[in-house]
Amino acid sequence: MKSDAPHDNREEILRSVRDDVVNLTSSPLYIYRTENNYFPVIGQGSHTAHLMFIGEAPGRNEAQTGHPFCGAAGKILDELCASIDLKRDDVYITNILKDRPPNNRDPLPEEIELYAPFLDRQIEAIKPRVIATLGRFSMAYIMKKFGLEKELGSISKIHGHVFETHSLFAPAVVIIPLYHPAASIYDQSLKQTLLNDFQIIKKYI
Ligand code: URA
Repeated sequence: MKSDAPHDNREEILRSVRDDVVNLTSSPLYIYRTENNYFPVIGQGSHTAHLMFIGEAPGRNEAQTGHPFCGAAGKILDELCASIDLKRDDVYITNILKDRPPNNRDPLPEEIELYAPFLDRQIEAIKPRVIATLGRFSMAYIMKKFGLEKELGSISKIHGHVFETHSLFAPAVVIIPLYHPAASIYDQSLKQTLLNDFQIIKKYI
């Protein structure tokens, strides 16, 4: 599940991402972080993972602990990973936004613009072979980033589809959009949809 960990600068990049996010006083969400004694949520898991999950933004549990997907949605994500024999330590989990938006509201475009460069650096460091996006915000950002704007559709249409990207300058990456695990709390039929889509991920890792 882990790559051969060639000698490279991934640890250095990830450390600098962490330091830069911790000190991101220019973020409109920084004051909310300090007022609530919240932590920024940078990412968790293997730095040589072949599979990276990208969610939306930390919720309250995540901001209180500094760990991504540690609440109800995280429990579902763990179950989904277990369904294909993966553990948290095998993968890398992060979000587009590294700070919690007030009242769990959707990320604003300007917040995505501010935080996305940190996600870009995490992808550059970890070099995953497969990126599984969780929810529509990370789906839209990642598909545009990898030149798949034309293939972008509603999540109900393109979840579980496999988008292979090729570049002369970067290793090939497979992108698989998924529903956000929290969606299956409100609509239980989506749990089976997610389980089916995880079987697709399994073929690529
Ligand atoms: N939802 C997300 O998108 N990310 C988390 O870390 C937790 C819940």
